[in-house]
Amino acid sequence: MFHVKQSEQASPNNDFGMDTPLARELADLSSRRRALEKVSVDFTGDTRVFTVSNQKGGVGKTTTAVNVASALASLGARVLVIDLDPQGNASTALGVPHSAETPSIYDVLINGRPLADVVQQSPEHENLHCAPSTIHLAGAEIELVAQVAREFRLRRALEVYLADHDLDYVIIDCPPSLGLLTINAFTAASEVFIPIQCEYYALEGLSQLLGSIQMIQQHLNPELHLSTILLTMYDGRTRLAQQVADEVRSHFPRQVLETVIPRSVRVSEAPSFGQTVIAYDGSSAGAIAYREAAVEIASRTQGKEN
Ligand code: ATP
Ligand code: MG
Repeated sequence: MFHVKQSEQASPNNDFGMDTPLARELADLSSRRRALEKVSVDFTGDTRVFTVSNQKGGVGKTTTAVNVASALASLGARVLVIDLDPQGNASTALGVPHSAETPSIYDVLINGRPLADVVQQSPEHENLHCAPSTIHLAGAEIELVAQVAREFRLRRALEVYLADHDLDYVIIDCPPSLGLLTINAFTAASEVFIPIQCEYYALEGLSQLLGSIQMIQQHLNPELHLSTILLTMYDGRTRLAQQVADEVRSHFPRQVLETVIPRSVRVSEAPSFGQTVIAYDGSSAGAIAYREAAVEIASRTQGKEN
């Protein structure tokens, strides 16, 4: 359909007039930005529900969830982010209030409150919504144990919500664990989206995650499959990052997106302004990479045959 090549070599006779690594990088960025401006995406078909998971902490799950969501919304998709992490980082990044008194995903999971009661629009985009998490969610892992249909609380709530709301994407941001909150995300979603940080221990723990996905598939949700892997915090100057990227691609050739998210200060600064990097600095390298990742995701089908 459409593809934005990240690796296109910029010509030495670029807009910046010099053949230095920085000039090449800037020229590359500006040609990718121009390519993105020409992309148009047709969002038709069923709602795609992703769970962004990796039980490893700090690999870029939340950053990926909110930036891909915002990029998809700016392409015209209707997107809901469900913040399933008691840390509430996705709610913060989307500029959505999530103080202890705010109606939240906790009320949905534990008190059976309709999802529609807690969803808020992100100030970032009219198509972008978020079901926030509050600190109460920290107790939910334990409280869920005693609930009826404890593994399906989110799924049921989402089914009711989707009957009345037309959405193209639901993106669930999971905590760094494989407890009942993550299991609720796995039963509600059909696609698993794993961000992998390009560093030495990247693949450690992945087999545990894949084992959990398989177990959920067999016992709770036959639809669930790993559709998407995104390499994050890539530092092209290190050989290690390249080696990790190659290794992940050799294990998961069909799931890994061509786009790689570079390590970028703008990406890490954005949440402190209550924004994604798409809104904070849409022409920065991190924002362009997330926009390209969103285009790639949208251009793929449900990923079953991938
Ligand atoms: P947790 O397991 O705690 O939920 P996580 O997997 O959601 O963490 P993030 O919170 O998205 O990870 O990212 C961890 C840290 O790395 C954050 O401080 C974030 O700002 C930073 N970070 C994420 N992606 C990038 C990037 N591409 N460049 C620079 N910093 C990044
Ligand atoms: Mg997180």
